[in-house]
Amino acid sequence: MIIAVDGPAASGKGTIARAIARHYGLPYLDTGLLYRAVGLQVLRTGGDPSDPDAALAACAFTDPLLADEQLRSEAAGAAASVVSAHPAVRAALIERQRAFAGQPGGAVLDGRDIGTVIAPHAAAKLFVKAAPAVRARRRHDEIVARGLEISYDRVLADIRERDKRDMLRDHAPLTQAADADLLDTTFMDIEAAVDRALALVEARIRAAAND
Ligand code: C5P
Repeated sequence: MIIAVDGPAASGKGTIARAIARHYGLPYLDTGLLYRAVGLQVLRTGGDPSDPDAALAACAFTDPLLADEQLRSEAAGAAASVVSAHPAVRAALIERQRAFAGQPGGAVLDGRDIGTVIAPHAAAKLFVKAAPAVRARRRHDEIVARGLEISYDRVLADIRERDKRDMLRDHAPLTQAADADLLDTTFMDIEAAVDRALALVEARIRAAAND
């Protein structure tokens, strides 16, 4: 059983996807980490994330990078959103994601194009969204909790910028799959969002079983 969870930055999709994976005992992949690894690798080698050749070369990163703390940084997130617009980068990362999705028993993946490109036949698809101001507040709280300093306005501007890049790119833009369930977490705390997500997934599984 493959479960796809897509949505913009700080929508709650990662927490929701992890909770779904725990609930069903499925392996989980945060696909944003792959793009963050490419972005971070380009920055570390002194390249420019908007240069397609530098970004493609960085796709050959080695697995230990996926555990690097710096992947969580705003700089890695911003670089990820730039490298992810290059079609060659998306192509280089697709097999790894499809192999993860296709393992026996299934998997939960979260990202931007899981329900549309990586696993279009997923058993259940969620598109998680929330108002930009609410996502910026959550992200700001997270960053401050890590002991870092940044203004709320800066975080909001970064989120708007990233949304724009992710939604307007030509290849695999962030968009809700036609058969995805929409989950708007703007007015929900995380417990309520997870409960609702599980109910939506259960309904999809029951409907498929009755087909
Ligand atoms: O989810 P996260 O914020 O870690 O993703 C970082 C960036 O990677 C996103 O802004 C997006 O540009 C890119 N990404 C993507 N496709 C995915 C996952 C992430 O383009 N499936």
